[in-house]
Amino acid sequence: MEEVRVFPLTCAVQNYAWGKIGLDSEVAKLVVGGDPLAVIEVDKPYAELWMGAHPKGDAQIKDNRIAQTTLGQWIAHYPACLGSKVKDAFQGQLPFLFKVLSVNTALSIQAHPNKELAATLHAQFPEHYPDNNHKPEMAIALTRFQGLCGFRPVEEILGFLQAVPEFHALVGRDAAEELRSSVGDEVRTSQALKKCFSKMMSCEKKVFVDELNELVKRVTQEGAAGKDTSSSNGDLLLRLHSQYPGDIGCFSIFFLNYMVLEPGQAMFLGANEPHAYIYGDCIECMACSDNTVRAGLTRKYIDVNTLCEMLNYKPASASSKIFLCVQDPADPCVTLYDPPVPDFTVMKIQVPASVKEYTVASVDSASILLVIEGDATATSAAAFSDLTMRRGSVLFVSANESISLHVTSQSGMTLFRACSLL
Ligand SMILES: [Zn+2]
Repeated sequence: MEEVRVFPLTCAVQNYAWGKIGLDSEVAKLVVGGDPLAVIEVDKPYAELWMGAHPKGDAQIKDNRIAQTTLGQWIAHYPACLGSKVKDAFQGQLPFLFKVLSVNTALSIQAHPNKELAATLHAQFPEHYPDNNHKPEMAIALTRFQGLCGFRPVEEILGFLQAVPEFHALVGRDAAEELRSSVGDEVRTSQALKKCFSKMMSCEKKVFVDELNELVKRVTQEGAAGKDTSSSNGDLLLRLHSQYPGDIGCFSIFFLNYMVLEPGQAMFLGANEPHAYIYGDCIECMACSDNTVRAGLTRKYIDVNTLCEMLNYKPASASSKIFLCVQDPADPCVTLYDPPVPDFTVMKIQVPASVKEYTVASVDSASILLVIEGDATATSAAAFSDLTMRRGSVLFVSANESISLHVTSQSGMTLFRACSLL
């Protein structure tokens, strides 16, 4: 039998507690779109869809004519499908994990180590850092997506230190003063910011819980009296506190940029960049790793020393944290989200209503293709037969294979594709 190199996948769903519930979740909608027989439970969270070969959620091959049952098994058997460059650079493994996330309650504030630090941490504390790889991540909004990313401009942090005495109390007068007097000197600012953040993160629990309760009480009273609480970031504070009462992470909103991404906008989370996802649905792509250093909004272990040492203390505006995508010069339907790491690139493919025959071009890397909107019949010389593509369909495409889409929906198609462009 001739080897088949393009085939559909049934992807793993993760029902983490923070996910959106039932059919509110984009993940659940895509699951039922891709498989109308799938049962979605109305009160269950559908947090993540994993499209890849990660051992904790290896995709099932949706074609019983293929001997292997999962994508991971198949790639192990046919590593040439990765493309020769990817196969060599990533030791025969698919270098990325492609995901859809539906976030209902905030995920922990975190940062991911670079390769060097990941190797050190893994060697020292394998129980907290399970592998030696870096974990750059990209999030592309599918719906309005809220998160935290990177340190705010110093003027904003100084503004909160002045307006929020409970926050000032945790940072302390000396560190706050050092930050104030450092303005204009990048190196000193970065040092002072590190000191301020470290002071807050190393406060004793009783101290920050008391200050947090005080702050929440004050903001609640001000809100009830009809006052504007934006100088204390009141709405976000109360929302996070209701999800994580007594958590140090509630104070980090005064340090970190609050991001609101419109659909199609992205943020790239490089090494040592503090970030959190708060609410919304997104496409996510990441290097294969589980190394996460947490900073709050979590019931898990916080490694304060590692965290405070590693972070990127470079203040910058929220708008500068939006990752710039570019039009593919070779194809007006394709938008490229190409981060400065070799592990992955994401493409958004928008086929306009006027185009009925569209070719998904070959790339010299294995890729995973997800339909977000629209219907088509897909034809490929490397597939067993024609494939029906609709919202939620996921295809694995080996390197150097193209696919012809015969679009049957009236309003065009939207697809996302992850690959590794070395
Ligand atoms: Zn992360």
